[in-house]
Amino acid sequence: MYDILVIGGGPAGLTAATYACRAGKRVLVIEKNAFGGQITWSPRVENFPGFLSVTGTELGDKLLEQAMEQGTEVELEEVTALSRNNGVWAVSCDSGAAFEAKAVIVAAGARPRMLGVEREEELVGSGICYCAVCDGAFYAGKPVAVCGGGNSALQDALLLSESCSRVYLVHRRDSFRGEQKLVDALKGRDNVEFVLNARVKALEGAEELTGLVVEQDGAPRTLAVEGVFVAIGHRPDLAVFMPYLKLDDKGYADSDESCLGGAPGLFVAGDCRKKQVRQLTTAAADGAVAALAAVSFLESL
Ligand code: NAP
Repeated sequence: MYDILVIGGGPAGLTAATYACRAGKRVLVIEKNAFGGQITWSPRVENFPGFLSVTGTELGDKLLEQAMEQGTEVELEEVTALSRNNGVWAVSCDSGAAFEAKAVIVAAGARPRMLGVEREEELVGSGICYCAVCDGAFYAGKPVAVCGGGNSALQDALLLSESCSRVYLVHRRDSFRGEQKLVDALKGRDNVEFVLNARVKALEGAEELTGLVVEQDGAPRTLAVEGVFVAIGHRPDLAVFMPYLKLDDKGYADSDESCLGGAPGLFVAGDCRKKQVRQLTTAAADGAVAALAAVSFLESL
């Protein structure tokens, strides 16, 4: 049996593992996709303390290396159930693997939000993408659109402008939520066009995407693009952890200052947690807080 199971191998989960191992606990991190989490989708990170500029994958690799150096064990598995019996938490995975521990830290992050237009799911992989870092290379030399107005959309547009023939940045307002520095960089790119006050209405194309229909300032407009990169934020997916976690109306997990979730020995950290600011730094901070609270919990048993 482990002391602590950490579910999710992003910055919150890996930081939690590092802290818990350094406190002498036996820790397993279970990740379903890629260690590093959402940050592996970020082409460049320039606001993580101590790094002037680093790629998301490099930062993810460093967080993993650091956690493993401290003794963290890792598994690539998708958690499908969580239960608690006689004070022991049990986690089952889709492969049939099962793990037990006295404490659990849920650091499951969030998944990309969808546009919600017809045929979006059908066209995933045939023009609809949610990760410019992962899929951008498939659209080199082609026109694409990026949807969103936050840092993810701005960064995706910058990255894609380096290889795509044209990049339309489609945003529903007339100003961006993301950093001005990124907006200014985009203004300097000849192949980038801001399509503001625009709402996505439809996707065109039979088997492959050929266009994006938007309504801009009340008038329809079709953008001839072969790829649409959706970057409109994320939402948590915590259904597996019910009924042990209490969720708010947006699906984020309620917790107290020490990241304690809805049951003894259950903690929550990072983007899946209800809070004001979701950044790498706050995810890492949550990881440390949750780990130290879990360690105190274990020592009180
Ligand atoms: P975000 O900041 O929440 O931005 C989401 C954007 O999508 C907003 O502009 C929003 O529009 C728009 N949007 C939401 N729902 C929409 C819909 N249904 N249709 C059209 N547009 C919609 O999300 P994010 O850009 O993924 O960033 C998430 C967090 O990670 C942020 O705190 C961000 O700063 C951080 N981040 C950091 C880095 C880094 O380098 N460190 C990189 C990427 C992201 P409105 O503005 O109109 O609400």
